[in-house]
Amino acid sequence: MNSFSGFAQTDFAAFADKKIKNKKFNKERKVVWQKIKSLHLLVDSELKKTGFPLKGKESRYDINYVKRKVNGIWVAYTHIKPYYRVCQLNYGIYKDGFFIGIELRGDAKEQVKNMIEFIKLNPDEFLEFGKKLNPHRVYIDYDDYSVDPHNATKSDLTHLIKTVVAKEAWFEFGEWHPKTKRILKSSDIVPEIIRVFETLYPLYLVFSGLRPTGDSKIDKLQRITEVPENDLEKTESEIARDVQQLSKEDREKLIAKNDARNRAKGVQSYTNESKAFRRDATLSAALKEKYNDQCQICKTTYKIKQGFFCDTHHIEPLKEGGKDTSENVLVVCPNHHRLLDRLFIEVISRTKNKIKIKENGKIREIDLE
Ligand SMILES: [Zn+2]
Repeated sequence: MNSFSGFAQTDFAAFADKKIKNKKFNKERKVVWQKIKSLHLLVDSELKKTGFPLKGKESRYDINYVKRKVNGIWVAYTHIKPYYRVCQLNYGIYKDGFFIGIELRGDAKEQVKNMIEFIKLNPDEFLEFGKKLNPHRVYIDYDDYSVDPHNATKSDLTHLIKTVVAKEAWFEFGEWHPKTKRILKSSDIVPEIIRVFETLYPLYLVFSGLRPTGDSKIDKLQRITEVPENDLEKTESEIARDVQQLSKEDREKLIAKNDARNRAKGVQSYTNESKAFRRDATLSAALKEKYNDQCQICKTTYKIKQGFFCDTHHIEPLKEGGKDTSENVLVVCPNHHRLLDRLFIEVISRTKNKIKIKENGKIREIDLE
């Protein structure tokens, strides 16, 4: 049975010794490591009760980022792999305190782009997030500059954007708990983590590309929401709610806009980590909504508690140069998806409203609308 009793002053000291930087954990750090593991289990089980959708992953290594040389142990929460190269919510212990909040590495290029776009479009909304956190502990930190969102001005944000871009600076937004007695107690630490995570989660979604950054409903959804194939289902369910709120006209506009973009740009190749193509989750979610989650071949709908249960299939496979556009995508049930993938059913031709398929040696035409 794991239990977390809190941190001791010596736990912070374990990170202060410059000589052991970047070495495997020494004895003192192993103690902290065990504590973080126990805290992690406790936090995850409490987060689960609130319905929080992310689970933590302990970081086993010290960071020796070129500019920061940060030493600590932390737990990262993110949808995306590899978890250390993306936007993450995390908490961790360092030599002078305990951090809870959002971290974004400068070389997480897509996520940094999302962050900058959001700050440019919604500076006040961005700062509002900080105002919901503990006013005595909150800060936005980048490249060793720090600003309190309560007093930040537009020029602070301009400086932030410029610096993050120019220096690929590490970005943090959250609460810093100095090594006071208060933070050392487990009964305090866990609710603090949950409160900060719940407050900053919408921002995490925006930075991660899972939520749009702009203002108009369509602009919001038109944001690039490409994810590795493996993450498609999870991402789509994040987007589905927004898609459902669009009018029919707006949904068509969204599909047309994403089509145009994807046609021009093609499909991004394999991501290193997962050997999967990046897919446009927004387009997929919008097409499923358009066709009421119904298989375009057999017209079956599987309603499940979580919402939809259908797939999107590329007629010309992405790996063979097929585009991620609506004319190359069919909404299909899992059965037909498999039959199409295995070429037991062949698509002969497709127009806007009709598709011709070869099935059991026979050709037949199906209305798509
Ligand atoms: Zn079907």
